[in-house]
Amino acid sequence: MTTGNINVSVENIFPLIKKFLYSDHEIFLRELISNATDATLKLKHLTNIGEAPGVEYGNPVIEVKVDKEGKKLHIIDHGIGMTADEVQKYINEVAFSGAEEFLEKYKDSAKDSGIIGHFGLGFYSAFMVANTVEIITKSYKDEPASHWSCDGSPKYSLEQADKKERGTEIILHINKDSEEFLDDAKITQLLTKYNKFMPIPIKFGTKEETKTTGQGDNAKEEKITVDNIINNPDPAWTKQPADLKEEDYKNFYRELYPMQFEEPLFHIHLNVDYPFNLTGILYFPKLSNDMSMQKDRIQLYQNQVFVTDNVEGIVPEFLTMLKGVIDSPDIPLNVSRSYLQADGNVKKISSYITRKVADKLKSIFNENREDFEKKWNDIKIVIEYGMLSEDKFFEKADKFALYPTVDGTYYTFEELQEKIKDGQTDKDNKLVILYASDKDAQHTYINEAKERGYEVLLLDSPIVSHLLQKLETSKENISFARVDADSIDNLIKKDDEKISKLSEEEKETLKTTLDEVIPKEKFTVQLEALDSNASPFTITQPEFMRRMKEMSATGGGMFGMGNMPEMYNLVVNTNHELVNQIVNTKTKAKQERLIKQSLDLARLSQGLLKGEELTNFVKRSYEMIK
Ligand code: ADP
Repeated sequence: MTTGNINVSVENIFPLIKKFLYSDHEIFLRELISNATDATLKLKHLTNIGEAPGVEYGNPVIEVKVDKEGKKLHIIDHGIGMTADEVQKYINEVAFSGAEEFLEKYKDSAKDSGIIGHFGLGFYSAFMVANTVEIITKSYKDEPASHWSCDGSPKYSLEQADKKERGTEIILHINKDSEEFLDDAKITQLLTKYNKFMPIPIKFGTKEETKTTGQGDNAKEEKITVDNIINNPDPAWTKQPADLKEEDYKNFYRELYPMQFEEPLFHIHLNVDYPFNLTGILYFPKLSNDMSMQKDRIQLYQNQVFVTDNVEGIVPEFLTMLKGVIDSPDIPLNVSRSYLQADGNVKKISSYITRKVADKLKSIFNENREDFEKKWNDIKIVIEYGMLSEDKFFEKADKFALYPTVDGTYYTFEELQEKIKDGQTDKDNKLVILYASDKDAQHTYINEAKERGYEVLLLDSPIVSHLLQKLETSKENISFARVDADSIDNLIKKDDEKISKLSEEEKETLKTTLDEVIPKEKFTVQLEALDSNASPFTITQPEFMRRMKEMSATGGGMFGMGNMPEMYNLVVNTNHELVNQIVNTKTKAKQERLIKQSLDLARLSQGLLKGEELTNFVKRSYEMIK
């Protein structure tokens, strides 16, 4: 037996490891299972290339065992194992100095940024939860087994052992503060979180299964005990897209998010090996307008080991609404987020993902337009958000982003332009695109526009005001106007000026009369010579102000616009008979009643009449019909 000091220069490393990052203690298990997996895969490789003569690889599993009474946790593998010399070298020297270096580098910063969870401190993380750690290991080479033990002081012992089987067993003597790790449920939870898709089967206890034997009338159900394998060693993303069917992708989605019952809309299989390595499957889920509801997130793996489900910085922000898996050995995990965003590889990964997503959307659009239209409402938020935040994506999406009309026709921007350019180009040669945000609330206005033969889009996502702003600045000679932004003739101004039926003098009197009755602080009166069939009174809300207010409500727009009071215009159609009547009514009381009633009707169709004013309106209306 030999004993020795691991490294005298850092006597305080064990206490440091122990208290290190309390919340991340659980990662010790991931680290040890990663080591066991590596050891097994190394052996597989050696047998494959004929470098391990006489060794049968077989079907090795990694086993985790809890010994509650002995307060021990065992992690057992059948990998390459270590000779005594290798224990000396890899555990006492390499691993130790690795852990030391890690702690040296991160002891101050890691606590806040949580990086330790992304970047393990390796074998020595076992000391976060154990007082004493033992290694019993036998190399695949024909050499005796070794038994290493360390009680958390810099002293270790190393002696021969009589283990016959190839592989390594790590025994953790769990410390008082960490007894939760002797709980089966806790271990199951950790294995499921970190190791669900690791490449070597992981056994934790056994489970009962029913097996049917015999056939027909002789069929018998039998309970059998089988190994409880925690993981799926061959998750879908590690396979070739050609080997997977639609159903396989759906099944994998369910495997990934067992609590999610909604089916994904479609998937994107990521697969590159140059200039960086990345595999994965992204899913477009059905999205509700409530973006804060998304709790199942994209999971980041490194060689099938779970790292995090916070992919911010790696995946462009607009795609964090997607779900699925990304696996890459090329994403640096030991650095802060701000560094990550500046990292060249990460930037390339991010733009690769953006491109793949755009290409996939384009191909669905091309191959099955009908299906794409059906899905549009569920995916538009991601696409619109992407168009706003990534110029590259905007360019691509411009070809397939859809603009539905209130009647349910879906146009691409180009198609829309073609369709409306004759009817909706105004006298200044600007193409005016009309839209509504709510079919019911803006019904009157939509109707007026349709009567003129105009198309009205239905744009109702929460970020639409930002998108319109973006479209107006990136395309030439177009502008968007919500149907209730002004009278329809003003929204699309044509050359044919309407002649007013009222004389200048009559207009003056009308203006004065209106100003006496209509509350100035709420409405700006605007006299217009409109079509005699157009509404006499219409309430409008100027596009610019409303859009700026909306934009600042969803983040952006002009500073301070969010606090501006609601501004409305009252458009009075001087060519309407009713207005004519108002002008020519002699009794003040009757005139006032006509104005009030008309104003209230206009408010009613904008959904603005509420409370006491509504009550008064109803009363007044009964009076008038009685
Ligand atoms: P890393 O895995 O990052 O190299 P570790 O501290 O986890 O660092 O492990 C150090 C070394 O100890 C490994 O590189 C490996 O050579 C050896 N080792 C650890 N666990 C095992 C194991 N279960 N079987 C064989 N060798 C192991």
